Amino acid sequence: MRWKKEWINKDKENISIKGYFTRLFRKDPILRFCPKCKKRVEGEKCTIHNIESEKLIILSGIIDDGTSSIIVNFFRQDAEKLVGMKEEEIEEVIKKEGKDSFYESIEQRLLKGFFKIKGTVKVNDYNNTLEVTVHNFKELKEVI
Ligand SMILES: [Zn+2]
Repeated sequence: MRWKKEWINKDKENISIKGYFTRLFRKDPILRFCPKCKKRVEGEKCTIHNIESEKLIILSGIIDDGTSSIIVNFFRQDAEKLVGMKEEEIEEVIKKEGKDSFYESIEQRLLKGFFKIKGTVKVNDYNNTLEVTVHNFKELKEVI
């Protein structure tokens, strides 16, 4: 069962969850956005503002605590920590071996791990589900 809107008191509520990754979404982990308009851009520059775009790493997956599951999003340093690679290395691996191969190698490790995650929950109004923006996490050695 997915976490429901009714389970939280407010948008951006702080939560702490423990659980296993049941899956990772195999999306492009490195996006580019314009630092000025904050919109996603495809190339090196925002064509509207003619300034260099910035990179943003996002990794998303589903954490299940045994009774329910929720979507978790790891940004920037948290995403790097989760993968165990720096942004440049991630780019390099994807360029060389492809996205699927990148995800296969990190899934092998992550899908067995038990994690404690702290973050804020937001409601995705589009499909009425909840998503966690991770602010802190650690892999636990054993199930508590
Ligand atoms: Zn722009």
